[in-house]
Amino acid sequence: MKIAVVGTGYVGLVSGVCLAEKGHDVVCVDNDLAKVERINAGVSPIHEAGLDDLLKSNIGGRLKATNDLKAAVLDSDVSLIAVGTPFDGAEIDLSYIRQVSADIGDALKDKTDYHVVVVKSTVVPGTTDAVVLPILEAHSGKKAGADFGLGMNPEFLREGVAIPDFMYPDRIVIGGIDERTLTVLADVYAPFSGVDIVKTNSKTAEMVKYTSNSLLATLISFSNEIGNLCAALGNIDAIEVMHGVHLDKRLSPILGNGERVTPAITSYLEAGCGFGGSCFPKDVKALISHGKKEGQPMEMLSAVININRDQPRQVLDRLYKHFKDIEGIRVAVMGLAFKPDTDDMRESPAITVVNELIAKQADVRAYDPVAEEEARKLFPDEAIRYCASIQETLEGAEAVLLLTRWGVFEQLPDTLRQMKLNPLVIDGRRMLPKDSVERYEGIGISL
Ligand code: NAD
Repeated sequence: MKIAVVGTGYVGLVSGVCLAEKGHDVVCVDNDLAKVERINAGVSPIHEAGLDDLLKSNIGGRLKATNDLKAAVLDSDVSLIAVGTPFDGAEIDLSYIRQVSADIGDALKDKTDYHVVVVKSTVVPGTTDAVVLPILEAHSGKKAGADFGLGMNPEFLREGVAIPDFMYPDRIVIGGIDERTLTVLADVYAPFSGVDIVKTNSKTAEMVKYTSNSLLATLISFSNEIGNLCAALGNIDAIEVMHGVHLDKRLSPILGNGERVTPAITSYLEAGCGFGGSCFPKDVKALISHGKKEGQPMEMLSAVININRDQPRQVLDRLYKHFKDIEGIRVAVMGLAFKPDTDDMRESPAITVVNELIAKQADVRAYDPVAEEEARKLFPDEAIRYCASIQETLEGAEAVLLLTRWGVFEQLPDTLRQMKLNPLVIDGRRMLPKDSVERYEGIGISL
């Protein structure tokens, strides 16, 4: 099948590369020419494990990139729209979706073959049918259903493990205006055999995505609220509490042979310094605003966002407990990305923490295995010294803030011992044993 993927960010590029790997002829479209050139040179513009190798092995063969959207649509059977859908402060910003819909509509005007347009971006329920469809019809002069197909296919990949998530999905959700659209979408995913497929309308497909992300965000904020209470009550460690909760057999089932299964969902039931990334914060906010607009107050999800907004303060409060004034205090920030194995800094809890350190004129050193380039776009260069190693970051540090659960940070206690350093360590991710360093503070234990 010939597939055009419009937008080559985390979702578009990974989808394009993986669909080519699965045997489709894919053209990735982006209006950022620098990205297009990098992709055609076999170099991924984003950090994602395994992406460079898959890109290199497919580019120039079943995969190419272009900034010519019209040519891509004319020469394909399906267009997947994978542009960003940020939250503009009040509601979902559909400007990229509208622009691409108009461009695809213009191309469809000159297309004689049947073509299916699919929204892969996360959009609030109703967008594909109520926003994308009329734009496509107006620009193409054609009728959805009769002249072209229109569907919605949310993406569930997680950054950091995006390639395995895409290649071995847990589910495929496809929505569409008619059977013909759904059949074409099923053909796109035909090489993914044995996966549960949900076939539905576009609005339901859109809602599945928001509901999935809202559930996970809710579990995190729930755990953080419980963790904050544990800390406030004293002599309770949220880790022990959550361990006791995880052992509920409805969360961690016991098999017939007595072995216990620990499902990944339990990792969302842990206290930490908050969730970030390009999806949970913006998606939950967009759903709240959409619900309110439709007369449905979204009180629980509003609390989820408020708890998360304040959660990085738990790290700062622990810093202020030891240092009344942090001006000139050397603080080593370990981890900047919103989670390990990605360079994505969008909505990372580290942003709140580092901005406050800079505002209070702390002497900030920071280390992240891959997110430095992204961080430089957010913080003034002169305000932070980016370090190339954990050791360099720790030199002379009076406080260490652990903000991202990168595996390499597990060596922190040993490194501190070797360097004969004894700073305050604030574990924002509860990844170190609390007796592994002398001066330990963590989320979910007494302030
Ligand atoms: P992104 O910002 O990384 O990438 C979007 C890309 O679209 C950019 O490369 C941009 O240059 C391109 N673009 C914008 N306007 C364009 C136009 N008019 N023509 C061609 N290209 C254009 O976004 P992302 O993180 O890949 O997210 C895309 C969508 O997928 C969003 O709706 C997001 O919510 C959803 N999603 C993201 C993830 C994730 O982990 N990042 C997971 C699931 C779903």
